[in-house]
Amino acid sequence: MPYAVTHILLTIIAVDLYRDYAAKHRKYFTLNTVFIAGLAGLLPDADIPLTWFLNLILPGSVPLILTHGGITHTLFFGLIFLAPALYFWKNKKHKFAMYFFVTSFGVFLHIFLDYLLGGGMHGGIMFFWPLSTAGFKIHLLNNLGLNDVPQALDALILLAWLYHEEVKHKIKDFF
Ligand SMILES: [Zn+2]
Repeated sequence: MPYAVTHILLTIIAVDLYRDYAAKHRKYFTLNTVFIAGLAGLLPDADIPLTWFLNLILPGSVPLILTHGGITHTLFFGLIFLAPALYFWKNKKHKFAMYFFVTSFGVFLHIFLDYLLGGGMHGGIMFFWPLSTAGFKIHLLNNLGLNDVPQALDALILLAWLYHEEVKHKIKDFF
């Protein structure tokens, strides 16, 4: 399962790269947006402390969907944040809307990474819940026996991003 740091880093980097190279409305992205994106990248795993807490008050009778890898690891959960995003966007509260757009994005990226690398439930990610409880997974790290890799992966991702930031800022200095 990807580490918390991997989820946070990759979401922040993806949002930062989008802002730098693709966004038509860069002014709607603030430092807060990047911070919220990082939080959202980890948000689905809030079900780990939640499971722990529910087991404490309802020992042995916690519904499966509320345990780790359940409802917070579904497309449905990510889509919830699109409603306030569209509402604020329509009402010209663009910065606020962006907070919710990046939250949706962070959740989607999280469950995709869990699907790809290893995470969610043992059966994988229930992408289509509540329509179906079928689980989907590739779980690359488990299948290739690379469970020690994520730690090294974090370091490499961080270095690559720092390099990108450095090059970009140096380039900026010439203009
Ligand atoms: Zn997860």
